[in-house]
Amino acid sequence: MANPPTILHVEDNFENRILVRRLLQSVKYSVLEAENANEALNILKESYPDLILMDINMPDMDGYTLTHHIKSIPKFQNVPVVAITANVMRGDRERVLKAGCDGYIEKPIDVDSFLDQVSMYLDHIHLEG
Ligand code: MN
Repeated sequence: MANPPTILHVEDNFENRILVRRLLQSVKYSVLEAENANEALNILKESYPDLILMDINMPDMDGYTLTHHIKSIPKFQNVPVVAITANVMRGDRERVLKAGCDGYIEKPIDVDSFLDQVSMYLDHIHLEG
């Protein structure tokens, strides 16, 4: 592809950020990182990512609330937001989708399938877009 996709990763945990960054950069994706909702919203003032990977459990504003907020901004309505969460218990899938997320990836991250999952959500945009 002409331009590598840009992915915004919102995650308060440093080690998770390193892991995801390493995986995404291994296929030359461009990575933006925020460790909380404020940082994410600041980044979105000047950037337009192709995909947002969203941690759910964060201090201050959780990923559900932040996703809802981002999706209420018209120009980001069609940017896929994929939750990365360990909370995949009953009801959480509904909660993730209700918040406006387009899907989720389970934590702990499976390094063997992570990039396939990300690329599936990226391809989805191209199919629908
Ligand atoms: Mn977290």
